Amino acid sequence: MVDIVIATRNPGKVRELQSLLDSVDVHLLSLDDFDQIGEVEETGNTFEENALLKATEVAKATGYVTIADDSGLMVDVLDGRPGVLSARYAGDNASDSDNNKKLLNELKDLPLEKRDAAFVCVIASADPKGKHILTRGVCRGKIALEEKGQGGFGYDPLFFPAQYDCTMAEISPEIKNSISHRALAVEELKKLLPSFLAQL
Ligand code: IMP
Repeated sequence: MVDIVIATRNPGKVRELQSLLDSVDVHLLSLDDFDQIGEVEETGNTFEENALLKATEVAKATGYVTIADDSGLMVDVLDGRPGVLSARYAGDNASDSDNNKKLLNELKDLPLEKRDAAFVCVIASADPKGKHILTRGVCRGKIALEEKGQGGFGYDPLFFPAQYDCTMAEISPEIKNSISHRALAVEELKKLLPSFLAQL
């Protein structure tokens, strides 16, 4: 079994990935197994740049193949904003509620047909020499006129996934995990990871 590092200190993310990758023969480590590694700054302009930056830096520092993700919300009428700034849309220490309020304000008076958006997730897998693969998952939908639902996190209460008439915060975690941008990026990764690992 191959050891792989997930570039996060979030135990929930490690558990989620472990279960999504259960068919691939890997053992996941997290940044908590490597005290000496600090936060990698997300200075890129795209999800791809940020995910790759994190994966390559951590792979070099640990010597293990590393998986890193970057995700966020892209709103069509805002030219893809908040994009890579999704977590800090309303400022550096903004809460989810601050970010949601700012988004609602920016889209004020726009009817539902002009509120198209997509959640995007990019996963980078890199080896310590810099060889890498990227996978991308996209979940399209619309921004609601007001927050609805208690589940999920981030922009979930404002996001109507296409073909659902409730927000991402109102659907069950099982359904979210079958349609989400993260789930789709992991699905793609599951197809590519075995041959990537075999080439090392
Ligand atoms: P990161 O990939 O953990 O850096 O996430 C960036 C930000 O994108 C989060 O703080 C959320 O604001 C937003 N985001 C990413 N994925 C989701 C999701 O599944 N639901 C709601 N918001 C999300």
